Amino acid sequence: MSKKLRVAITHDVDRTFKSYHYFSKIIRAIISLNGKMLITQIKTIFSRENTYWNFQDILKIEKNNNIRATYFFLNETLKFKLFSPSNWVLSLGRYNIQSPKMKRIIKKVANSGHEIGVHGSFDSYKNIELLKKEKETLEKILNGKVTGIRQHHLNRDDTTWEIQHEVGFKYDSSLGFNDGIGYPDEKIRPFKPLSNEFIVFPMALMDFTFSNTSNKWEKLEYIIKQTIENEGVLVLNWHTDTFSLKEFPDHQKDFLRIISLLKSRNAEFLTLKECYDNYISK
Ligand SMILES: [Zn+2]
Repeated sequence: MSKKLRVAITHDVDRTFKSYHYFSKIIRAIISLNGKMLITQIKTIFSRENTYWNFQDILKIEKNNNIRATYFFLNETLKFKLFSPSNWVLSLGRYNIQSPKMKRIIKKVANSGHEIGVHGSFDSYKNIELLKKEKETLEKILNGKVTGIRQHHLNRDDTTWEIQHEVGFKYDSSLGFNDGIGYPDEKIRPFKPLSNEFIVFPMALMDFTFSNTSNKWEKLEYIIKQTIENEGVLVLNWHTDTFSLKEFPDHQKDFLRIISLLKSRNAEFLTLKECYDNYISK
């Protein structure tokens, strides 16, 4: 392949409606004395507006920019533990992937030309039965095969890639920073960790870590340069639930600016499945 900029836009679908977040965000706004955030949160309660459901906006932006992306849907089944507050964030406010509303949106996204993948639930990175079930459930909804996965919270251990491969995934895109941008361990080019056809696509940019990075636009230039030189794929992850201009204005603004920057560099936008097919045929 010639040295050109390849980009894979991806979206982890963590949450699709606001539940306890109404209250946790109001408390956070009060503690941080953020009046604007407080007013926004109170308004969304009364308007009953679901600021976590942003599929229409994202699909429209991607259609207008001729982008096919990869959407990873979560099927969380972690048990709620009353006396473990750290568990609340993970187990509460989840969506039911089998509900008619979710099935409809998954099919709509797929029919719009995008790829659908599994966003492995919190414990699935070390649980082959769970991973298998999540893949099968999504395939049943889609009435088709699922090729790729990204683990929730980028959870991984020494067995994760092996069990992902064993249940039939062709690629994983869970290698990345949870607290920064760029390529961990200088792993830039997609690679085969199991010396077979299974490929890992490192993820270099994520919405909230990018927004919080100082000199982010300069750092992005460096990441683009690294990606082109190493014949990699620039993988972005923008969560669907943080795309609302009202709640996370930086995320959508950054996304739009990155897209136009990448287009000005003649980037080729591909789904991760298309990237996989390109790399495997080399
Ligand atoms: Zn997630």
